[in-house]
This record gives sequence, structure tokens and C-alpha cells, in this order.
Amino acid sequence: MAKRKQKIALKTRKTSAAARNKAAGQSHQVGPLKQNWPILPADRTSLSMAIFSQMQFIERMPPEQQNRLQLRQVERVLRFARETVPFYRESLDEIRRIPDGEMDEAFLSGLPILTRSEIQSAGLELRSTRTPPEHGPVFLQRTSGSTGKPIEVATTRLRAVMSNAHTLRTHYWHRLDVSQKSVEIRTAYKPGAEPKKPVWSVLPWAGPSKRLDINLPISELFDQFIDEDPSSVLSHPYTLMLLAERSRETGIQPKNLSTARSFAETLTPNIRQTLREIWNVPVIDSYSATEIGIIAHQCPDSENLHVQVENVRVEVLDDSGNQCEPGMSGKVVITPLQNFASPLVRYEIGDYAEVGESCSCGRTLPVLTRILGRHRNLCVLKNGERFFPEIQADLKPFGHIRQFQAHQKSLEDIDLKIVAERPFTREEKNEVEAIVQKKFHYPFRVNIIEVDDIPRAANGKFEEFKSDIPEAKMDD
Ligand SMILES: [Zn+2]
Repeated sequence: MAKRKQKIALKTRKTSAAARNKAAGQSHQVGPLKQNWPILPADRTSLSMAIFSQMQFIERMPPEQQNRLQLRQVERVLRFARETVPFYRESLDEIRRIPDGEMDEAFLSGLPILTRSEIQSAGLELRSTRTPPEHGPVFLQRTSGSTGKPIEVATTRLRAVMSNAHTLRTHYWHRLDVSQKSVEIRTAYKPGAEPKKPVWSVLPWAGPSKRLDINLPISELFDQFIDEDPSSVLSHPYTLMLLAERSRETGIQPKNLSTARSFAETLTPNIRQTLREIWNVPVIDSYSATEIGIIAHQCPDSENLHVQVENVRVEVLDDSGNQCEPGMSGKVVITPLQNFASPLVRYEIGDYAEVGESCSCGRTLPVLTRILGRHRNLCVLKNGERFFPEIQADLKPFGHIRQFQAHQKSLEDIDLKIVAERPFTREEKNEVEAIVQKKFHYPFRVNIIEVDDIPRAANGKFEEFKSDIPEAKMDD
């Protein structure tokens, strides 16, 4: 009886405090406090920070727990897609037979793979008819279509919120000083699309971020980059390498550069080494795609790429469709977890990646050791063997080679375009041919073509090797 009285008394006191606050015109909410330190952020910033703080726990969860929670999110995506996306009405019908919360990996791995051409032909059939309003406004994302096959998917504002959270994570992992200046070298903003006050983090002390056009000639791009004098630079690995080599040629070094960040192309060990040698900076790699957002970020303690499990479920499959074991490489298949506008289920993005053992850093996020490239970057031999060739390091001893690109024209011929400071001698041509034959495991005819320039694609990407053999260009 006495207890009960106490309870009632407490309740009364509370009510009267609330009443006092109300009388004083105070709301029961805290924040936003934009002028405080630390700030109490409002809206999207606070959402990104709230997700980022959960990520600190997720990345060190026991793998089983992390996987279980992620599968629940995959299940939400599947049920939502089945209910609201015409394309999935039949193919995902089986999910209705599974009790809520019980979809497992076996079910997921039995679902059909979604290809780029299916996305293209499905068109609006792949859009949800009931995108949740709490995911924010809908936007269209269109890939650059480096081989003329762009795809378009719808996303929501939630993607930007997630993306900022994942950016915070990589900045935190690598201890980047975001108060300094960053330069992004990528495709230029569309007219009118440039943000009013571009910064490179949602943190209140974030420094400016300047975008430079990746399609400028390297000499011009280099001058702009030096003028900007950033502390961090973000670009495609190949462009970073060309800029570093320009530094070597001109003797002009970026004064304040402390890190380079790369995306969009395969970062080779040779490019890492070149940037270390010339600029004395580490390269922090990432793996993302226009239609997906972030897929993986480099570990702060190794060169492993950690899958960003809050944004995507990644499967790496061998030719029979089975999961690759650590050390093996296969096709990357992705299920985005936060796209409820154009849900993609088991989307074959077109890249190959190598699966890694769990990382020694203590983070339990799955590991990819390397992104190898696309179908068209695979060299195909007569005996059916396929591999991703890498000859950058082997051509290094030829100091006068400034740029090169290998192109498999047939099962017997490889064209090797070379930009060099002086013409090749007969002996040097023979040496190069021998290197290519050894590296490509076949006595190819190597046609050395000396050119003045090897342009990058319109999307700023550069391919060191591409193949015309049909098996190797099944997709974009
Ligand atoms: Zn790690």
C-alpha cells in the first residue's frame, strides 16, 4: 500500500514539472543546437550521425549476429519488392510461404540473379509503386555506361543519409583531418548542380571540398590540383597515378597532401607504390557504384576492403553460382539494403572480386581483398582459361613509357598502344613482346602501336586491358 502511494506521488511530481515547463514555454525536445560544441544536429545530419554511431557496434559484432541482422533487412527488402514492385510479383512469390523473420541464406541463394540487361528491359516495372514517404524524395541515378549500356535506377534521400554515414566511417577509420581542404577529381558537376557550400563531411568543422573535372588534359588538371593545394585528394587510381607522374616530370610537389583516396577503377599495387614513392602518401581505396552507392571501404589496418553491411549484402559467386571461399575470385552479386524505390535483388554488377579471410583488425565486416575488373577486362586464352592481366609493373623498367593500353583483338593478337618519350628500338619491341607473352601465358602476336595519347573514357575511367573476345564482354 505504501509503495502504491509513492508511485502516485512521483507521477504527480512529474506532471507538475511538465506543467511548469509548459508554462515557461519550453518544449520537451532537446536541440537542434547548431551553435553548441558539440552541435546537436538537426534533420539529415543527425540521421547520418545516428547511423554512424550504430556502425561502431555493428562492425565489431560477432559475425553470426551481424549476418542474422543483415538477413532480416534483406528479408524486408524481398517482402517489400514482392508486394510493391511489378517485376518481382512472380519471381519472389515463394517468400509468402516463409514465416516472418525466418528467411535464410539458402532461400536467398536460390533466387534468380538480376542482370544489367534485365534492369534495362524492365524499365518502370522495377520501380516500387509504394516507396515509403519516410525514405524521402525519389531521385534517379543513371550509370555512365562506359560501353554504351547505361542503366537507370530510382533511389531516395535515405541514400544520401547512408552515404554520409559511410563517409564518416571511412574518415574516422583513417583519421582524416576533415577540417583541411579536399579536392575531388571526377566528372564535372552538371550545370547548376554544384552545391552552394561544398564540404567533405557532415561534421561541423568540415573543410571545403573542391571538384575538378577529370576529363581535362592531365597537364591542365595537374596545374589546377597544385593551385588548390589540398590535404586530401579523391580520384580514380589511374588519374592519381598520372598526376603523381606529372609531379615527377615537373619536380612540382603538392605541398600539403597527406592522403589520396581512390574509387571507380581497380587500384593496383603498382599505383599504390607509385603514389607512395612520388608523393609519399598512402592510398585509401573504396568500392562503389552509381546504381548502388558505397559497397566497401578499405580497412584502416590493412589493404583489405570491408563490405559495408549496412548498405549492401555482397555475394561473390563462382561459375556454378556457389559462394567463393576465401582466396577465390568470382562474380560480384549485390542486394542493396536501403533502396525501396528500385529494389534490386541479387544484382550482378559486372565486376569480379576476390574474397578474403576475416580481417585481423578485429572488425567483423566481410572482406574483399581485390576488385579485379569487369568481364571485358578478362583475357581469354584458346584453352578457355581466363584471367585479369596486370603488366604495369613489368613495363616499369622502360622508363620512357608514359602510358600504355593492351587490347586483346583475337585469340592470337594483342594490340599494345604505347605513349613514349622517344621511339622504341627493335630490341625494345622484342623485349616488350616477350614480357607480354610471358605475362599472358600465351605466345600472342603483340602489335606495338606508338601513339601520342591514349584518352580516358568519357566517364574519366581508364582500362589498362580490355578484350574483344565475346565471352569476355558479356556485359557492361
Ligand atoms: Zn580490417
